[in-house]
Amino acid sequence: RPTTPTSIVIIGASGDLARKKLIPALFHLFCNGFLPERFRVVGFARTPLDDESFRQEVAETLTTRFQPEPGECALAVGHFLKRCHYHQGQYTRADDFRTLGRRIEGLAGPRSGLLLYMAIPPDVFLDTARSIRAAGLADEEERPWSRVVIEKPFGRDTASSSELTRALGKIFSENQTYRIDHYLGKEAIQNLLALRFGNRILEPLWNREHIESVEICFSEDIGTQGRAGYFDRFGIIRDVVQNHLLQALALVAMEQPIRLTPGEIAREKDRVLRATRPMNAASTLVGQYEGYRQEPGVPEDSITETFVRTTLHVDTPRWYGVPFEITAGKALAERKTEILVRFRDLPVAFFPGAATNTLRIRIQPDEEIELQLNNKVPGMNMTVTPVGLNMLYQQEFATALPEAYERLLLDVLRGDRSLFIQQEELAAAWEVVTPYLQERERLLKRPPEYPYGCQAPHIFLRSDETPYPGEEAPEATPPGTRP
Ligand code: NAP
Repeated sequence: RPTTPTSIVIIGASGDLARKKLIPALFHLFCNGFLPERFRVVGFARTPLDDESFRQEVAETLTTRFQPEPGECALAVGHFLKRCHYHQGQYTRADDFRTLGRRIEGLAGPRSGLLLYMAIPPDVFLDTARSIRAAGLADEEERPWSRVVIEKPFGRDTASSSELTRALGKIFSENQTYRIDHYLGKEAIQNLLALRFGNRILEPLWNREHIESVEICFSEDIGTQGRAGYFDRFGIIRDVVQNHLLQALALVAMEQPIRLTPGEIAREKDRVLRATRPMNAASTLVGQYEGYRQEPGVPEDSITETFVRTTLHVDTPRWYGVPFEITAGKALAERKTEILVRFRDLPVAFFPGAATNTLRIRIQPDEEIELQLNNKVPGMNMTVTPVGLNMLYQQEFATALPEAYERLLLDVLRGDRSLFIQQEELAAAWEVVTPYLQERERLLKRPPEYPYGCQAPHIFLRSDETPYPGEEAPEATPPGTRP
């Protein structure tokens, strides 16, 4: 538990992220004794609210949306609310941040640590950052620490991202900047390092000699859920692949860092991302779900992709020639994110019934690790069948898993940047997707449609795959290639 008195300022406190994720995460940290003894949560936004009405909103969020467990935690709502405050202001007005600063001093004392969470749309990031700097809130000489959390999207492509990095770099130091990718706060993603570098049996097999392919799949069973206006400006490649899935790829493919420090981990992720060949049209398929263009906020002629399937290659001695198949889509049949490592088959098919060995890491929902092995079928014959050795987090570990935002907020309070994106790896990840995005925007070609709620593999088939019975690959789909 951090000990410095702390003020947590949520800039954009009237918004969706604050309500859905940040307030519940802070409350849960509070209930579990992870917040400092002396802390204040201060909401900042333009919406006219006062402490009382803000507290009412927080209470409503906690009781209706989040539903604290009965007992001690429910009682804690009252204690938590007493520490919540609201300050109305304009993002572009430094004076409003000066009065906020004085307010914080009054509430938490002059020597409190300051966490500033930018829960605002990207268009207002920079102006807000300038106001914060002008008001002296980012000044670390004035207080024990001042840390700023920023949310994706960190730009739209290589050029805009490096421009944002450069502009923010003039306002905040890299050490006080926490670029959040909430996937890195997920337990099963953090476990990738432990799984790979904490187990003797995996490392000797974790290379091109033994691994045939790696699949990283993200699928949602919902569409844009009222956020179509935001989504349409980005698309699934920017929204999910550039950040969450390339981070997962980096953790699967990186070399062992020499230490578990933020700098060393980021260095290895950066190296592996820089060794990843950029996405290209020949091995990428995109799609758009039916009905997407009729959603409010989406232009009729939108070419934004809601589905992508691409093959990436990591040109390191460990991975040369191993395809990394990346799939991401909205409005598919199920909600899941998982990594599937397929091992090479044995040189001789010795046993009838044997299947490829696989290691499946399910990130969400229901975190799970499953190793598929071949096992003899009990009986008189020597045939085998694939069986799974699996570990379900829910069964194995008695405690509930912390929400990603809880873990990440606590890390910011502790000053631990290990699970945050550093500027070099961010630039390297943009380099992987930008050439393809630019090509798409140049061609202005609308992706083929797929039915809402269908199975991802049914939508687009590569040239080496057979259509499912009764389904043909859509004509407009460019044939993908398996390298
Ligand atoms: P949001 O609800 O659209 O906006 C947050 C607040 O910012 C609003 O309540 C509004 O507050 C203010 N605002 C909105 N549009 C503005 C504009 N054009 N100019 C000035 N202020 C404006 O955003 P959000 O969904 O909470 O997301 C916040 C950040 O987190 C964004 O960068 C987003 O990309 C990122 N993010 C969100 C989610 C999510 O689940 N929501 C997930 C991942 C990342 P006032 O009008 O009261 O000032």
